[in-house]
Amino acid sequence: MRQSSLVVIANRLPLDDSAAPDGACEWRRSPGGLASALHAILEQTPATWVGWGGGVGPAPALPDIGSLRLRPVPLTEDELRGYYEGFANSTLWPLYHDAVQQPTFDRGWWETYRTVNQRFAEAAAEVAEPGAAVWVQDYHLQLVPGMLRELRPDVMIGFFMHVPFPPPELYMQLPRRVELLRGMLGADLVGFQREQAAHNVAQLAVKLLGAEVAGDTITVDGRTVHTGAFPVSIDVTEMRALAARPDVVTQAEQLRDSLGRPKRVLLSVDRLDYTKGIEHRLTAYRELLRDGHVKVRDTVLVQVAVPSRERVESYRELKDRIEAEVGRINGEFGRVGEPAIHYLNQPFSRSQLAALYRTADVMVVTPLRDGMNLVAKEFVAAREDGAGALVLSEFTGAAAELAQAFLVNPHDVDGLKDTLLQAMETDPADLRARMSAMRQHLADHDILAWARAYLSALDHTGRLAESLP
Ligand code: UDP
Repeated sequence: MRQSSLVVIANRLPLDDSAAPDGACEWRRSPGGLASALHAILEQTPATWVGWGGGVGPAPALPDIGSLRLRPVPLTEDELRGYYEGFANSTLWPLYHDAVQQPTFDRGWWETYRTVNQRFAEAAAEVAEPGAAVWVQDYHLQLVPGMLRELRPDVMIGFFMHVPFPPPELYMQLPRRVELLRGMLGADLVGFQREQAAHNVAQLAVKLLGAEVAGDTITVDGRTVHTGAFPVSIDVTEMRALAARPDVVTQAEQLRDSLGRPKRVLLSVDRLDYTKGIEHRLTAYRELLRDGHVKVRDTVLVQVAVPSRERVESYRELKDRIEAEVGRINGEFGRVGEPAIHYLNQPFSRSQLAALYRTADVMVVTPLRDGMNLVAKEFVAAREDGAGALVLSEFTGAAAELAQAFLVNPHDVDGLKDTLLQAMETDPADLRARMSAMRQHLADHDILAWARAYLSALDHTGRLAESLP
């Protein structure tokens, strides 16, 4: 078994599984933020990525992608239901997102979640060389740090939570709250998108585990765990280059033509998820149309809603509700050849997204809760023309960084309507100043800065951070 000095563990391999069997691997661009986020780093750093390759049953051996080795973890159909769709996405996901959807506490799912986490930990233990750094990603694998520490006390263990970590009073609802907290605190460094999450964990560690907290360290079970905020970012260089490509510029022009050259294009790009605030946005837009503040010929809304977790009932129900509402709005306010909303329930490639970002006058990002929201950052990175307005929910990690966006509370429909109008009507010079400040922030805080900050906090020798491109 070949071993690596850096091991990343995430639910998914960053691989397009349809490309795997003939050995022609392409980097996967799944519509989730994580694969996008780590792509830039691991393409050039010798490392192993441990993750599920998609599909069920025994995992095929996979060829390396450049210097990156892939270690697939197999899942059965039952495990997929209990671990992924069940505990991860129907218990933890809604609970960690402010319970905007009622979490399901199904006792059968827990055992499966534990079993699968153990399998990931064992796979990582096999491929980590002595003293390696192992970086565990996200809520799917919250037990892995503790399990890996049992198996391999010699390795440095990092855990990064891409989603929010909820306030104690919400977390306390979890039937397995103690095991989950202890599992995560098996790491040497536990990183979050925002400082508040680290405070939440510290409070819970005191309450549930009798830990002691001093600054950003938690002492629990005789060990010291560091915590901190490391807001994740995007590959700014890649998005800038994409958006400047002549074919993308042409595509953006063509998109505007296809939309009938309206005065204003509003754009939203989300996974079809109840955390994204799509329904709140549609309500606001319907009322703007109803009140005559927005006219169909002048203004269009393009809503990309990428299919997501379609085997989970609450996602299917949400899709039905959204599609019924889009149909109602188009039925009521659209004209022949001029729908009020262009609704696209399909995934888009990076270059198509770049073209869409360039086409938008107002990017509307209104999650009810979101760990970061990479789409907001991608929009900013794509706007080398300096134009465009970003309407951004206060309840995203991105809002803590992009202070010049038009920040909004999406629960407040009147406030949302006012903010949309304000973004549409703001003077272009003001928009440019806002965009320029946000672009500067992103240039200084890209994905490599994130990885460097995290890995140097994990590894005080600095060896790991030095090996990054
Ligand atoms: N994305 C994509 N194709 C699409 C829609 C989205 O590749 O059709 C990508 C998008 O560029 C971004 C990621 O999916 O990098 C979504 O990340 P975000 O943090 O906004 O939301 P998440 O899906 O992780 O909740």
